[in-house]
Amino acid sequence: MTLHIGYQYVCKKCGYKFIPYREGAECPHCGFPADETFDFIPRAVKSIEFNINEYERIHPGVWLVGSFADEILEHIFEILDTYKKTYTKIDFDEFAKLVLEQRIPDNEDFLRKHVFEILQEIVKELEKKGLYKI
Ligand SMILES: [Zn+2]
Repeated sequence: MTLHIGYQYVCKKCGYKFIPYREGAECPHCGFPADETFDFIPRAVKSIEFNINEYERIHPGVWLVGSFADEILEHIFEILDTYKKTYTKIDFDEFAKLVLEQRIPDNEDFLRKHVFEILQEIVKELEKKGLYKI
């Protein structure tokens, strides 16, 4: 079992998907403001906490992507787990950006930045809970 997040938001102006994870969020593609917010960060932290307790790692191994939010979560699982496994520690932010460049195509650079922002919020929460250390 895993904790999935069945959510997506589509920009009313440009049609790109993103996660309005905080009040006053704007589309990372065109800057148009979102008309809703979604508590993605606490949900993602809960999902990660579950995987750590259940599987002793962040990526649960099998992760069926059922929504856009799940897709974002998978990028984040991958970054957190692979960073933990690397021996020669490079700067976490640099590492995360490299992984996102591999996983998200060049024409969606705005999405890389969006995931990176979300990742930073999640890492902050995980560190507070003592679940992750950079
Ligand atoms: Zn937009």
